[in-house]
Amino acid sequence: MNRRNFLKTGMLGAMIAASPISLSALDSATRAAGKSGRLNLSFRPYELQLRHAFNLARNQRTTTPGVQVEIEYDGIVGYGEASMPPYLGESVASVCEFLSKLDLSQFSDPFRIEDIHEYMEKVAPNNRAAKASVDIALHDLTGKIMNQPWYKIWGLNPDNCPNTSFTISYDANPEEMRKKIEETAPYKVVKVKMGLDHDKEIVEALRRYTDVPICVDANQGWNNKEKALEMCHWLAERNCLFVEQPMDKAAIDDTAWLRERSPLPIIADEFLQRLPDVRRAAQAYDGINIKLMKSTGMHEAYKMAVLARALGMKVMLGCMTETSCAVSAAAQLAPMVDWADLDGNLLIANDIFDGMKIVDGKVTLNDRPGIGVVKA
Ligand code: MG
Repeated sequence: MNRRNFLKTGMLGAMIAASPISLSALDSATRAAGKSGRLNLSFRPYELQLRHAFNLARNQRTTTPGVQVEIEYDGIVGYGEASMPPYLGESVASVCEFLSKLDLSQFSDPFRIEDIHEYMEKVAPNNRAAKASVDIALHDLTGKIMNQPWYKIWGLNPDNCPNTSFTISYDANPEEMRKKIEETAPYKVVKVKMGLDHDKEIVEALRRYTDVPICVDANQGWNNKEKALEMCHWLAERNCLFVEQPMDKAAIDDTAWLRERSPLPIIADEFLQRLPDVRRAAQAYDGINIKLMKSTGMHEAYKMAVLARALGMKVMLGCMTETSCAVSAAAQLAPMVDWADLDGNLLIANDIFDGMKIVDGKVTLNDRPGIGVVKA
């Protein structure tokens, strides 16, 4: 990635209309200013190319929109990223519009992450992925200033990182299905999406080749509690670990009914986004799935994990389709969680960062400062 192609804050209109030459000149002028004691935000769209088409209930997708962010302070650059799967309602245009409204130059201290979050909330509500991109870049920047990775700053033991799950989707062709299962061989946990037409077939296909534990994500797809309970019992007999979002996020009473009876833990994903949702989730779920693009970044994700633990809940750490930037940021929290689903960077063909690795199936953190990434 060429930093000179980054766009300066406030230039959304110019981003759409201007030529690359004028933007490049503008950016060079900004960089030439040198140490300013101020936070300088820049960003650019970056489309993620998927290694395999992503099969959803009604369509197929081969790309995911993203925005890459940099925050520079006295010559040190922190990297951040927004990833916007279409179902969450943010887009390249909305993220760039939000970022263009921010004036981080008013902050002379990059460690005022809480103040900067309060400022972002005042600029506009929602825009969670856009806020996460700034939050991740601030954590990377401040970690680099302290010369420590964030898992160490938080006092976490990297040996406690869990294995990550790796997601596979169903294919009606048995040979194609076998190839997909072969691709999961390096991983100790496999995740399957349910709530479609082949819920049992995919588990049965997996069990013909492997007995690794399976994480099940129903994506709100089971439309009654009796069916959901029957599936939970069926899955429990086949070495499944938990069920994520079995029913509609609005079906709180039915989910609480299911939780009382299910042999498997019931985990909230679509049900919750941010910190205040954790306490609500405790009424009906055994655990929560934290994702930086929902939580507005690492600052609130950490608080959510602490609160969930205090409430006696399980914690899962997820991601979107994203580069090693956002995945490595999430991985800083991995020693705190029961289960990780950090395969987003493995699903894309054009990663621009080198960061956390999956070694022998396990989330493996490095000693690099900040969020632990360098440009690949
Ligand atoms: Mg999910």
